[in-house]
Amino acid sequence: MSYPFRDVETKWQQTWEQENAYKTPEQSNRPKSYVLEMFPYPSGKLHMGHVRNYAIGDAIARLKRLQGYDVLHPMGWDAFGLPAENAAIQGGVCPEKWTLENIEEMKNQFKLLSISFDWERELATCLPDYYGHEQKFFLDFYKQGLAYRRESWVNWDPVDNCVLANEQVISGKGWRSGATVEKRKLMQWSLKITDYAQELLDDLSTLTGWPEKVVKMQENWIGRSEGALINFEIDGYPQVLSVFTTRPETLFGASFCGIAPTHPIADEVAQNNPELAMFIEDCQRTPTTEEALSTVEKKGYDTGLRVKHPFIKDVTIPLYVANFVLMDYGTGAIFACPAHDERDFDFATAYGLPIRPVVMPEAGETINGIAYTGPGTMINSEFLNGLDVLSARRRAIEEVEKLGMGQGQVTFRLRDWSVSRQRYWGCPIPIIYCDDCGIVPVPEKDLPVKLPMDVTFDQTGNPLDYHPTWKHTTCPLCQGKATRETDTLDTFFESSWYFLRFCDTKTADPLNKAAAQHWMPVDAYIGGIEHAVLHLLYARFFTKALRDCGYVSINEPFKNLLTQGMVCHSSFKDSDGQWLFPHEVTKVSENKYISKKDGMPVTVGRSEKMSKSKKNVVDPKEMIDTYGVDAVRLFVMSDTPPEKDFEWSDEGLEGAWRYLNRLWRVLETVIENKAREGADDASLALRKIAHQTIDKFVHGYGRHAFNKVIAFARELTRTLEEACQNSAVSGAALIETAKILMLGLNPLIPHLTSEMWKMSADAGDILQAEWPVADPDLAVKSEVTIAVQVNGKMRGSFQAAIDTDQETLFEQAKELATVHREIDGKTIRKTIVVPNRIVNIVV
Ligand SMILES: [Zn+2]
Repeated sequence: MSYPFRDVETKWQQTWEQENAYKTPEQSNRPKSYVLEMFPYPSGKLHMGHVRNYAIGDAIARLKRLQGYDVLHPMGWDAFGLPAENAAIQGGVCPEKWTLENIEEMKNQFKLLSISFDWERELATCLPDYYGHEQKFFLDFYKQGLAYRRESWVNWDPVDNCVLANEQVISGKGWRSGATVEKRKLMQWSLKITDYAQELLDDLSTLTGWPEKVVKMQENWIGRSEGALINFEIDGYPQVLSVFTTRPETLFGASFCGIAPTHPIADEVAQNNPELAMFIEDCQRTPTTEEALSTVEKKGYDTGLRVKHPFIKDVTIPLYVANFVLMDYGTGAIFACPAHDERDFDFATAYGLPIRPVVMPEAGETINGIAYTGPGTMINSEFLNGLDVLSARRRAIEEVEKLGMGQGQVTFRLRDWSVSRQRYWGCPIPIIYCDDCGIVPVPEKDLPVKLPMDVTFDQTGNPLDYHPTWKHTTCPLCQGKATRETDTLDTFFESSWYFLRFCDTKTADPLNKAAAQHWMPVDAYIGGIEHAVLHLLYARFFTKALRDCGYVSINEPFKNLLTQGMVCHSSFKDSDGQWLFPHEVTKVSENKYISKKDGMPVTVGRSEKMSKSKKNVVDPKEMIDTYGVDAVRLFVMSDTPPEKDFEWSDEGLEGAWRYLNRLWRVLETVIENKAREGADDASLALRKIAHQTIDKFVHGYGRHAFNKVIAFARELTRTLEEACQNSAVSGAALIETAKILMLGLNPLIPHLTSEMWKMSADAGDILQAEWPVADPDLAVKSEVTIAVQVNGKMRGSFQAAIDTDQETLFEQAKELATVHREIDGKTIRKTIVVPNRIVNIVV
């Protein structure tokens, strides 16, 4: 009989729901494991990317429970944000209603997937019992000087009508809208993440469970550099030009200075220079991130001012306003040594400025026509001549300090996090403005400051601003008339501490310190790499800031991080160039598809991330209806390691479904034969393989190589199938092996394994079962894989009995065709044989 997945899955989902099977255990003396997937924005629909993300987290949570851990596996909703507000603008629905309905819908989909969440700890960030606590945090930060308000240049997204943090500008465009970002000057609340720059950098070294790539990205984003702050005098001008440089040793090669278009000196000169004013205006329209600026054409405007060279008497160099200099980085001003900086080189070439080399490369390198940025010996630099670059740097800083023109300095690329957003659907900033008293924090007894529900969206701008009553209030200090802050917090504020709240969602305090002490840090955090310098950096900062406000006593929130790849699918276009859904096409042969509607040929695009706009999406619900939850979950974990992109294919899903049917039949056969007698030898042979597989499972799960675990399980299924046919294998050995197989697969396919466990094990629930322990005597392998290298290159491998002698291994290695080809007709000069591991041949 084929596997009745509908009945089995429905039955177990009801059972687990009734038993509240995933409730977080009370704190005990067992080890704990906190497993968390990044919580979703409640868009209303789970897509395949979600399914993969949560299937990965669920496998880890279920494995840890089987292995005897107390597991915390909660879920909630990152529920503030623009889509709800846009839905309100377009459809006239209340953002809260829209959001809460979506949450209900998505929660049901999660339940359909049997992700083992403890729903008693559910939270939604858009509800006052969540965001009220973060208003308290904001006030604490304000008291500590970590939150401040000032007028500053901001990234303005003209489509979302909203400010963006630097981390939210990707290649000069808004991270959500994709619109080219503009610069505006606004009063803004910011958080002093820069106070933690050094600690955020230093503690990266403790995050040994993070992917190297994410650590590197954060390191670059924080961007620590050592150099010097130098105050240049400007000829006939009252102010000095402060320049931060990481290369003070190249001062003798300086041929111009550059300032950002938004630099105060540029502003002042432009007052009497309309041409410069126009140039500056033009610059405001170009993207302003470092990444984007590296590709724009370098443009400048000569202010006519001359900057005095600090080391060479009577020499002055021109001062340009340059579009590639950022006000946000260093001091918004540079001195340029075109011979040794690519950007400066481009600029000097375009404007005919001198290019004077001061570093001579190591022998053998020439520097014609490009900037030389490598090491070398100083030349053309008076007192620095003959020194290497690093010594010259120290010497130049000494000289600058001696002349009283500046000092050595450490600078970070990281900027403070601007958190004001001019939108309705976010957490109100708990601040009141009074004409007499200035900035007044909302008294704690008045928290939460709740969002009004009676808002309209018929005007542009922030509804909180034009709400008739909400913003008008009385000053808590003088009782006079006052107004509320109408900006709301960046939604990354909410996601910066939700993992702490999950430790105790019932407490009336913002956080339960003891519970956080018990459960934190998160042992396995799973989510997309796109958060590497957004959420993951903010959350680290927030944890440290909350620590310093006395809320927690940990330094880092996430011990291990798993960044899963995307789910990809080919895209299809019909003869009119319209996108087609995969279910609208039929495959006729390899890479040839036709439209189901008109039979016309279809153009197949490359496989890329599933997206609604290209219609290369597959609806999880439809797949679950056809093949069952276990098949979908098993398939998204097969073939590909979790950190790599996953290629969706209907054939693959069908393959997973067929495997489950086969597994079902094999387990049925095992149960039918469980009482049979057998011979010791054949039974022992099966048990050996089963116990070796336990080790493989443990190793595979340990490295999150779920695809490997599935491959091992398929192997063991085949072995078990054969053993069923062999009457010499005892029923006891069959059952033992089947149990190992079911436990190994349970984290991936909970329904089928639960059902079969109940039928075969004569006892209870697999959720209460214990992870199998490999018997060391049985798990010892009798064969090992021997690798073969020729002249240091891998040329093949073969299986050999354990502890085979060196001579035999060498003879077997030579017989491999791939090896034979390499050594045939050549003299073997040396062989190195490491028993049980490798044969090395040098010819
Ligand atoms: Zn007042």
